[in-house]
Amino acid sequence: MRPRTLFAALLLAGHADAATVTVTHIGTPAAAQVAIDHAAGIWGGILTSPVDIKVRVTWFPLGASTLGVTFPNGRRDFAGAPLPLTWYATALANSIAGMELNPGESDMDVYLNSGADWYLGLDGLPPAGQHDLVSVALHEMGHGLGFVGLSKKVGGDGSLGLLQMADFAPLTTSFPWPQLDTLPGVFDVFLSDEQDGPLTMMANPGTQLGAAMTGGQLRFNGPLVLAANGGQGARVYAPSTFALGSSCVHFNEATYPPGNPNELMTPFSAPGDANHWPGPLGLAVMQDIGWMLAPDVGLHAPDEAARLAAWPNPVDDVLHLGAAPAEAVLTVRDLDGREVLRTRATNAVDASGWCAGAYVLERRAGAVVQRTVVIKRQAGR
Ligand SMILES: [Zn+2]
Repeated sequence: MRPRTLFAALLLAGHADAATVTVTHIGTPAAAQVAIDHAAGIWGGILTSPVDIKVRVTWFPLGASTLGVTFPNGRRDFAGAPLPLTWYATALANSIAGMELNPGESDMDVYLNSGADWYLGLDGLPPAGQHDLVSVALHEMGHGLGFVGLSKKVGGDGSLGLLQMADFAPLTTSFPWPQLDTLPGVFDVFLSDEQDGPLTMMANPGTQLGAAMTGGQLRFNGPLVLAANGGQGARVYAPSTFALGSSCVHFNEATYPPGNPNELMTPFSAPGDANHWPGPLGLAVMQDIGWMLAPDVGLHAPDEAARLAAWPNPVDDVLHLGAAPAEAVLTVRDLDGREVLRTRATNAVDASGWCAGAYVLERRAGAVVQRTVVIKRQAGR
């Protein structure tokens, strides 16, 4: 009846887990634990990581209107971090670094509403009126794995990286809340307003940023999302009234309504609805922020996900590239998909004339495609 559920079942049956997701339950009833652990297993089959992903789930009264809340643990500027001065969820940072960066700490704290009317079955067929716990746990863990930004708006001023734990009281985290230092999350780096461009190029905090966060014109313009979506970014939820924890960290509800394959990471979960798969755009977001997917998951062959070595990053003038195969073609695009450079096999490019901002580099040689994202620094910094 619901193909996406079938895909998930096939995946779990056909492949060993590519990542191990371990859930610690605080007060969760046994029957609910089964559904939550099932969701953990779905993510475990999608993602690859040599480091166990540690999820802490607390069964907690969240009131009438909230099903779940998730706080990812974070690290930045770790060994191998693709982007400097950018926050990564620790589950993702550990996967990229290939080592445990936060021993003894959970990778995410998930709160699930103990007062909601949950459907605890695993078949994705909740009756009308009940919320599918597998779907909601899958959604919340998606945030904890990095499908989340650091947006906030106070008055007219929008900001990135100014969130405080007090903003979410009475909820707290089991790990120390980091000093975010007005730095973006890697998810935020790909957010772009259709008129005004990337959020990370705007004054932070500032009114232009605030307007973009509530302008309804926000897209996630990562290179794999663009490739999976006909050259267009995925529409991101940015309603006219900013909602902390909902705005700018979800796909847009109206664009991806119940029944759409990409509905999992929208802000609202309708009772009686279920989705046990992130969808092509959800998977593309995970790859854009830095996850490697397990073989046979998603739209892209493993060799297409190869990372292009490029340094220094951020760059001021000369950008060096890893050894180029013969006949390789390098293209450089900005986050809105505009091509700024196309050139034959080369081991260095002159970036001194580029405008400040993030650029997607793609190098093709036959069927082999390598990509990376590079930040061009603002002059004078
Ligand atoms: Zn959410």
